[in-house]
Amino acid sequence: MIILAIETSCDDTGIAIIKVNEKKLSKIKVLSNLISSQVKIHQKYGGVYPSLAKREHQKNLPILFEKSKKEAKDPKIDLIAVTVGPGLDPCLWVGVNFAKDLAKNLGLPLLSINHIKAHIYANFLDFKSEKQLKDIFPAIYLIVSGGHTQLIFVKDFGHYKFLGETRDDAAGECFDKIGRMLGLGYPGGPPIEREAAKFKAKDSKFKVNLPRPMMHQKNYDFSFSGLKTAALYDYKERKPEIRKSKEYIRAISAETQQAIIDVLVKKTIKAAKEYKAKTVILGGGVIANRELRKQLKAKIKKDLPNTEYLSPDIKLSTDNALMIAITAYYQWLTEGSALSDDWKKVSVNANLRIEK
Ligand code: AMP
Ligand code: MG
Repeated sequence: MIILAIETSCDDTGIAIIKVNEKKLSKIKVLSNLISSQVKIHQKYGGVYPSLAKREHQKNLPILFEKSKKEAKDPKIDLIAVTVGPGLDPCLWVGVNFAKDLAKNLGLPLLSINHIKAHIYANFLDFKSEKQLKDIFPAIYLIVSGGHTQLIFVKDFGHYKFLGETRDDAAGECFDKIGRMLGLGYPGGPPIEREAAKFKAKDSKFKVNLPRPMMHQKNYDFSFSGLKTAALYDYKERKPEIRKSKEYIRAISAETQQAIIDVLVKKTIKAAKEYKAKTVILGGGVIANRELRKQLKAKIKKDLPNTEYLSPDIKLSTDNALMIAITAYYQWLTEGSALSDDWKKVSVNANLRIEK
């Protein structure tokens, strides 16, 4: 079976084509996985500009589609999958309308895919058997991206319980806003990680202290806007020449990154303990942060030696269509042909949640 998947929820246009065994879970063969990032276009706004993103998706999607078919050697497609939410409404519609046209013209079933779920499924790319899949549950899933920071309990395959989420900014958004303030460009996560890596506490003239919002609260919610404000105050209190200095930028980058890591690690470990998780699964663009992965992995090893840690390949942690294709495959395997999603009924839900 050949699955074609489309992703346009935010500022990355993605198309993927995979070949799978439609009867039982077996190794997925990736025939094409293309992504066109709009980072450069949105850089000057310091964030994603929805109407511009929509226009770029409209321009790029047909080009990527032709390219991916060529790369996959023009296979006969059996199933189409598209992200229907959560995301930016105008952007989601570009992908959904494109997918509906294709489904209608080719007479194919169309599957609606939840983007947050897909970030989990990105971890399953190399799974080869049902057993391998069953062995990872119950699991705690942490999604940290530019738009989301959520903790979800996955009791069993396909059974979710929502535990908590950010009450204001997402962790990635916090990286982006602080990065912008420091003049590090957009997105802020990667340069903050780079600057933080150069910071040496014992040699530094600067001590930056930022809060760890909600870290000790009993719930599984997060809040990052106070952290951003605290960073802004620290920055404003410094003399202009200090603000631009390499040393200060390194010190505040390291503290920002550590504050975010501390909160994420603390709440994830707490959830994994409470729900006796066999696995902690990660997803979302912020997962690309090496320090976060390193510290979370070390803490799991120390506090929960029987818990495994599963994080996707870095390339699959940010938005992509391959994870949409993988999710479609799993949905197909579990719900099968009952899933004859009528293209006419497929619609966008910008605030789609992961609850079952
Ligand atoms: P997504 O929303 O999943 O596409 O991920 C994009 C978000 O991930 C942006 O907010 C980035 O700043 C953030 N991000 C990407 N790489 C890193 C990194 N190495 N460290 C921290 N955040 C990152
Ligand atoms: Mg995402």
